[in-house]
Amino acid sequence: MNKLGIYVQVPFCQTKCTYCNFHTGVVSSERFAPYVDAVCREIREYRELYRATGVELPEGFEKAVVDTVYIGGGTPSLLEPELLNRMMRAIPEAFATELSEVTLEADPETVTVEKAGAWVRAGINRVSFGVQSFVDRELVAAGRMHRRADIYRSAGILGDVGIRNISFDLIAGLPFQTKESWMESLGALVKLGPEHVSVYLLEVDEGSRLGLEILQSGTRYSAGAVPSDDAMAGFYEKACAFLGDLGYHHYEISNWAKPGFESKHNLKYWRREAYLGFGAGAHSFSGTQRWANAHDASAYVGAITEGRLPAEQLERVTRESALEEELFLGLRQLDGIDLGRIEREYGVGLRTRFEPLESAGLVERDGETVRLAPARLSVSNEVFVELMR
Ligand code: SF4
Repeated sequence: MNKLGIYVQVPFCQTKCTYCNFHTGVVSSERFAPYVDAVCREIREYRELYRATGVELPEGFEKAVVDTVYIGGGTPSLLEPELLNRMMRAIPEAFATELSEVTLEADPETVTVEKAGAWVRAGINRVSFGVQSFVDRELVAAGRMHRRADIYRSAGILGDVGIRNISFDLIAGLPFQTKESWMESLGALVKLGPEHVSVYLLEVDEGSRLGLEILQSGTRYSAGAVPSDDAMAGFYEKACAFLGDLGYHHYEISNWAKPGFESKHNLKYWRREAYLGFGAGAHSFSGTQRWANAHDASAYVGAITEGRLPAEQLERVTRESALEEELFLGLRQLDGIDLGRIEREYGVGLRTRFEPLESAGLVERDGETVRLAPARLSVSNEVFVELMR
């Protein structure tokens, strides 16, 4: 173990987007500072908190150097910069650091010149923007607070203060999205030249108001205007072709980057490298154990204030589940997996498991490397289901 990622969760938003299935809430800003103080305490006292909870850090963990930080949410850009800075200052008090990538998730309407300047001074060098669409009608229907004009204004501010690594998120499948409006968003996005792009397909489940409405055929959140699954897959495929033609490297199912701008922090998740998550609902992986903090922000603050880590789902990663993770997380990356290495490391034979998938055109094999077939990227979940059979 030498490099370590730190994730900090800020579970607060200004409003709840209709499609959002994250554990985030709209709360009074008075609750921000106590939450941040709890996160700082969790960071500073992580060793004692882990020890008391049964988290065992692997040998050599104390020598790990933090090289990536990701402050996500929620909408962490809502916080006053002083609060973000407080959390950033807590990290080197508890860990050795050589920070190369420090990402802040931001929503366009929250960006001001003052805030952005303070982010840079706090060490933030990458911003991941929740853009979702450049079409105002889609943004309104999705319950987003920003409009197209905010994206241009905020991207300009970030450029002016010297942030040279910006990621834009788009969602394929928003209500009222059409082939034309999707291309309009993609075209507007690339004109701004972000270093990184993420494209997510709308998730339909009971965890969001829109998802629930689609499942129950309601009308309040424009469920009837959500594009079909085939249309969504088509949008995704258009993005693959469009971004690829412009030189963006498609390195993970949902992620593209200009060469050298792949997210160092997120790569740790897919490569099964260690990261520690702080804050309500944050997940951690030490290399041998996985756990998550309680989602409820009040319960989290209450527990930390009492000197307890509200860890849930603490489990040792068995050899069997480590192997499954190698396959599923590995296949999310377009470089694919090294079958020979995995077979040697886990002492298993996997060829017979992949042969039917290869015959069905779901994966491609090139020597020892297995990767998802490019034509099946938009339905990767179906491939993973087949792999589990
Ligand atoms: S801003 Fe992001 S986290 Fe917050 S409600 Fe919207 S989608 Fe969810």
